[in-house]
Amino acid sequence: MKDSLAIPALTEDLVRVLIDADTINRRVDELARQISADYATSGGNLLVVGVLKGSFIFTADLTRRLSVDHVVDFIALSSYKGDTSGNVRLLMDTRENMEGRNVLIIEDILDSGNTLDYLIRNFKTRNPASVKTAVLLDKPDRHVVPVEIDYIGFTIPDVWVVGYGLDYAEKHRTLPYIAEMYPQA
Ligand code: 5GP
Ligand code: MG
Ligand code: MG
Repeated sequence: MKDSLAIPALTEDLVRVLIDADTINRRVDELARQISADYATSGGNLLVVGVLKGSFIFTADLTRRLSVDHVVDFIALSSYKGDTSGNVRLLMDTRENMEGRNVLIIEDILDSGNTLDYLIRNFKTRNPASVKTAVLLDKPDRHVVPVEIDYIGFTIPDVWVVGYGLDYAEKHRTLPYIAEMYPQA
């Protein structure tokens, strides 16, 4: 058991640890407290929708600390990188009906804003009571589409990050910290 808790060392494709596990943990605690307080006064009926795959760890950690009743669901999308039109494709929809519910979207990272812009618009057509957003990481230098975010974990520079759910070609997703990658050739 002890071994499984050891912090994995940086591999040679990683530049440095950008946000360590303790710092992530404390921030997720704060966000969970803030979100719980906000939804305690907004009528309950909270539906949390994690965006796969990148947000699966953040969603799990955050929802386990919520002190308000909630239901967890997931959605899977793929975006075409390098396509400036911001095409987003729905791979797997939520199972829950959003009608009349307070929906909180959980995303790993806000980059161009295309994914969240698509999701917010799409969810609003389903007659929810409200749609709010929580992102673990925000890269303000990369925004193309303006998106209103209600909860932000950390603001980071324009570098490719992995770990805590985020990957590079499916690598590094389960690192307990967020690390900066060397730019790929
Ligand atoms: P957006 O639609 O805002 O441009 O992109 C959001 C998606 O791009 C994220 O959900 C994530 O999947 C991916 N992404 C953007 N920046 C990074 C990054 O630095 N690392 C990883 N692993 N994914 C990123
Ligand atoms: Mg994502
Ligand atoms: Mg990815």
